[in-house]
Amino acid sequence: MGGGLLKVAERAGEIGASALQIFSDNPTAWRRRPEPPPEAPAFRQRLAELDIGPLAIHAAYLVNLAGPDEILFDRSVEVLRHELVHAPAFGARFINVHAGSHRGAGVEAGVARLVDGLSRALAEAPDGPGAPLVAVENSSGGGDSIGVNVEQLAAVLELATAHGLDGRIGFCLDTAHLWGAGYDISDPAVIDGVLAEFDRLLGLDRLWMIHLNDTSSGLGSRHDRHEHLGEGWIGPLGMAHLLRHPALDHVAFYLETPGMEEGFDAINMARVGDLVAGRPLTPGPLPRPGTGPGPTPQAGPTAETPAQAGGRAGA
Ligand SMILES: [Zn+2]
Repeated sequence: MGGGLLKVAERAGEIGASALQIFSDNPTAWRRRPEPPPEAPAFRQRLAELDIGPLAIHAAYLVNLAGPDEILFDRSVEVLRHELVHAPAFGARFINVHAGSHRGAGVEAGVARLVDGLSRALAEAPDGPGAPLVAVENSSGGGDSIGVNVEQLAAVLELATAHGLDGRIGFCLDTAHLWGAGYDISDPAVIDGVLAEFDRLLGLDRLWMIHLNDTSSGLGSRHDRHEHLGEGWIGPLGMAHLLRHPALDHVAFYLETPGMEEGFDAINMARVGDLVAGRPLTPGPLPRPGTGPGPTPQAGPTAETPAQAGGRAGA
């Protein structure tokens, strides 16, 4: 992200965001720059002025804490530790990390490995009030991933609590991943069911982040092709239900929709407001980059007005 941090803060303010997720460094490399960039303090201050927060840092994509390979595991622990140690410089509240893949070792082994990795990384990280927290993200189930359903997330929490990590780890639910894992969250009743189950097995106070993404992958396909809000299978009804859900008042919503750098960030942000208010969705200057003209193939129910009007401010 380098010299772009301040631009990112300004852009977030421009499009009306009230929370922000960034990469602290190259998301596709292991190597971390030893110190936070020089503009980190100014970035932190600008976000405070704009009243944007909580800030989340998404850990590098290579991180896999759940796998059996020792070298990859050690590198993953080191990257997470690095993010946690430097999070305060950015003013980040959450470090978001994928639950990861057991790579054939089985779900139980994967969960144990993940929790071991979390404890090692957190052992050398700042602790106490205001210290950065780890938000473990659910998966769509592809590539031997763990955290595919609420039960598996509960298993992570249970073991983490046994390791004394209580209060330092929580969860992020990615809507596209839920869909890929087989939860039909285009249906408000299914959303209510998922949240009720999460509350029963983990407690909704453990749910800190939602990655609000529509998806063009099939239900239960184990894929997670992120799509613009309201233009995928989840559609406006499910999205609006999540944004307005009273049980999620304490949860921060983050967009990971396509074309963020090409202006689609503003459109999807506007659609968040539309969904909350029950308005028709702001149209996008489609085509989407790289996909040619016309609507996304296989798009789910689109352009329908969400059922009820009203609600609360969301993302
Ligand atoms: Zn995500």
